Amino acid sequence: MSSDPFQVLIVGAGVAALEAALALRDQAAGTVQTTLLAPEAYFSDRPVRVGEPFGHAVAHEYSLRQIAADLDLHHQVDSLGWVDTDARRVHTTGKAELPYDALLLALGARQLPSLPHTITIDPARLDEQLHGVIQDLEGGWVHSIAFVIPPGGVWPLPIYELALMTAERAYDMNIDASISLVTPEAAPLAVLGDAVSDAVRRLLHDRQIRTVTSGHCSMVKPGELMVLPHDLRLAVDRVVALPELHAAAVPGISHAEEGGFLSVDGHSRVIGLERVYAAGDITSFPVKFGAMAALQADAAAASIAALAGAPVDPQPVKPVLTGVLWTGHRPLYLRGRVAGSHGIDSEVSLTPLWSPPSKIHARYLGPYLDSLNQALAE
Ligand SMILES: Cc1cc2nc3c(=O)[nH]c(=O)nc-3n(C[C@H](O)[C@H](O)[C@H](O)COP(=O)(O)OP(=O)(O)OC[C@H]3O[C@@H](n4cnc5c(N)ncnc54)[C@H](O)[C@@H]3O)c2cc1C
Repeated sequence: MSSDPFQVLIVGAGVAALEAALALRDQAAGTVQTTLLAPEAYFSDRPVRVGEPFGHAVAHEYSLRQIAADLDLHHQVDSLGWVDTDARRVHTTGKAELPYDALLLALGARQLPSLPHTITIDPARLDEQLHGVIQDLEGGWVHSIAFVIPPGGVWPLPIYELALMTAERAYDMNIDASISLVTPEAAPLAVLGDAVSDAVRRLLHDRQIRTVTSGHCSMVKPGELMVLPHDLRLAVDRVVALPELHAAAVPGISHAEEGGFLSVDGHSRVIGLERVYAAGDITSFPVKFGAMAALQADAAAASIAALAGAPVDPQPVKPVLTGVLWTGHRPLYLRGRVAGSHGIDSEVSLTPLWSPPSKIHARYLGPYLDSLNQALAE
């Protein structure tokens, strides 16, 4: 048996990548050597960005150099070029060749505009994009805003949060605004089950947000939305839409579904490929949630640890969607657990359902970021 350490190559430095790196440190320290391949220098707490245009929160940027030192891993500042699965090597755009014994693809999703003449949410510039809209609402130059969810796998939470916080701001400032939300879902946040949907529907109603479900939008002309199949025309001053999501491209990996998303089994192994795993938004799981990315990353890490010889009993992912919905008032803690033939076991609470109550519920990343935040606060 070779005494060389088992090389784990993780591509990406987002939620799934960091969760997997932390899980490997816990379960396979001394057995594996982990490399993180990603171009950026910082990890950003993206969900917190929805609070920035309202002055409710500021998203932290965490140094990947510090994280790499804490986790005793190597951060290769570069991007994936292509994967040679036969030779078990990743070629980077910077012309490096990185060998692996196990590869975890955690490259997230690419964002494309879903409608013309709209503000398509870009997580990297959310504050810049929406600050002016909120100011225009406060100043009386904007009276009607539509928030739109396109079809396909999307990040569902932020658009509800933005609609709720915008309506709350208008109410607080005694502004007569017309806020609407159009979604292809059969009910608000239907993927989290009935209890969550009912609570969110009530909240939208209380904030006087006109909610159109099972609706698909097209833009008739700037300022006019058509919602099908309801044949509903909405005249709006601004439209804020989620982007359509497509999987990040991974040349060399051809086992992708429509949109480029990768099919994985319960242990996050890419179907049909040896020693290649995927977790997070790049997978074909139908909704894009950080909490799900973390569960998939944990399953991948356990499976990789066992492959490397660590004493771990890998368990398949049990899909549980958890999330915090910021509302402008007290946040709602949401949980939807797939319960076989019983549908979805759905739960809503005003008090946290997990600890620490991080915006993205992740077994390792939540406590780790909490410890970094506490150190920053000292
Ligand atoms: C505004 C907003 C709010 C959200 N709120 C919540 C929430 O409250 N709760 C929740 O659970 N989820 C939320 N989400 C969804 C959540 O952020 C995503 O589901 C999660 O980040 C997915 O993790 P990931 O690791 O798959 O992808 P990402 O976190 O997007 O990470 C992808 C990584 O891959 C890297 N990468 C891409 N291409 C390459 C390449 N060629 N080579 C190397 N590296 C590459 C990127 O640089 C990045 O580091 C929100 C999303 C948004 C946009």
